[in-house]
Amino acid sequence: MSLEKLCIHTITTKPWSLEEAVENYSAAGIKGISVWEDAIKDLGAQKSGELLSANNMDVVSYVRGGFFPSLNTAERQKAIDKNKQLVEEAAAIGAPSLVLVCGAEPGQSLETSRKQIQEGIEAVLPFAEEMKVKLSIEPLHPMYADTRSAVNTLKQANDMADSIDSEMVGIAVDVYHLWWDPDLEQEIKRCAKHGHFIAFHICDWAVPTNDMLLDRGLMGEGCIPLKTIKQWVDATGFNGYHEVEIFSNKFWAMDQQQFLEKIINAYKEYIQ
Ligand code: ZN
Repeated sequence: MSLEKLCIHTITTKPWSLEEAVENYSAAGIKGISVWEDAIKDLGAQKSGELLSANNMDVVSYVRGGFFPSLNTAERQKAIDKNKQLVEEAAAIGAPSLVLVCGAEPGQSLETSRKQIQEGIEAVLPFAEEMKVKLSIEPLHPMYADTRSAVNTLKQANDMADSIDSEMVGIAVDVYHLWWDPDLEQEIKRCAKHGHFIAFHICDWAVPTNDMLLDRGLMGEGCIPLKTIKQWVDATGFNGYHEVEIFSNKFWAMDQQQFLEKIINAYKEYIQ
């Protein structure tokens, strides 16, 4: 079976350096990689880009920008500047898109935060266009609506992408955040039809979930109807990577080579 559509986020195998991730993914026949900001800290963006390209890795996205909302104008400007820097790093490592964890400010309404998110994206957009890096709005599960994202459904992300109306702004659809949504199938169709479907992130929802952030499950371990969602995504004609994005203290504590084998087996059984 082919692994040609399998991509792994470096955060999934966080104990590995970028060099180790590239070496081990390559050895396993995996070309797709989404690179997190912390993974390029040691080498810097330029050298990381050279390493990735020398090893023929296909960089799917750079993770993560966003965090636009704030009560304070100067802080909002700081976020815009930071996102421009991230766009520049994305371009340097050869990533065609920057994933946005949009942010939320608990001291104001979610509507106000969403307005600031849209303003932030629109302020970064001209530079992103210049650098040829797409901005991917990633809706987050509502349990993160306090501080991580005021964009919590695919409908809200679609509304925002439609309103911004640029081919350089799209959406990252992550099953972890969206699996519960009764409108998911319809909004996936809408997202693709409007040309906004940029990325597809996979993992599972562990039952019970012991940590709101660091207890994501491996595909097949939880309650997300992965095959059904994958069928909806396939039906749109989406031909991009299936990106494994798992933050898990449990998996980070195990031997990462064995974890990589588990990922590949779970991918073959539940996704491919
Ligand atoms: Zn994601």
